[in-house]
Amino acid sequence: MRRKIIGLTLAIGLTGALIGVLGTTGVWQNAAEWAGLDAAASTTTSRTSPPAETSVEVVAVPTNPARPPNTPGPQPEPKLDPNGKPICAVDPSYFDKKVDGLKDAAEAAWKHVRQVAWEAGLTLCVHDGKRSTAAQQAEFDAAVALHGSVAKAKQFVLPPGKSLHVQGLAVDVQPRPSAAWLERTKGEFGWCRRYANEPWHFEFDARYKTQGCPELLPHP
Ligand SMILES: [Zn+2]
Repeated sequence: MRRKIIGLTLAIGLTGALIGVLGTTGVWQNAAEWAGLDAAASTTTSRTSPPAETSVEVVAVPTNPARPPNTPGPQPEPKLDPNGKPICAVDPSYFDKKVDGLKDAAEAAWKHVRQVAWEAGLTLCVHDGKRSTAAQQAEFDAAVALHGSVAKAKQFVLPPGKSLHVQGLAVDVQPRPSAAWLERTKGEFGWCRRYANEPWHFEFDARYKTQGCPELLPHP
């Protein structure tokens, strides 16, 4: 009986010594973390550590929800409505027009990013791209009528001489999740959102690929 008590005491003593040694070497703390124990219980030895450096607050860019990829290969041509206009495959309230009126570099860059988006599971519909001077003038005149003055109308539609749609360097992208995806590419493909009040309007400039997108302007 006495022999057993001595043995038990010895065992407890050795265990205590072992824990003491592990504690001073930090092994125990690591082991506790591996075991998933409460961090607070294992950090008593680091109370005297200096406080962590204050981190700079970074506003996170929302990430795209995971989407299943589309079928590999080229994106199918959009179906046509009864008037022969191309319907946006992911939202029939928008068009998905061809971009052959864009300037060559803009057209090539558009076809590239559209394919990248397609492979990521998104369709970038071109609700509007190249506009004729007459079409832009008609839009501007309608905006003047709606807003009551030329100055106010210019915050929503530019006159033909200033619109990059007329120059073949702008597209209006729909639906909104597609436009948001394109915005998050931050100019990598040469396309940038330009106006705070037009999340759908993107302009092409090859310099965006290396310089990134400029600050958003409040309105056109
Ligand atoms: Zn636009």
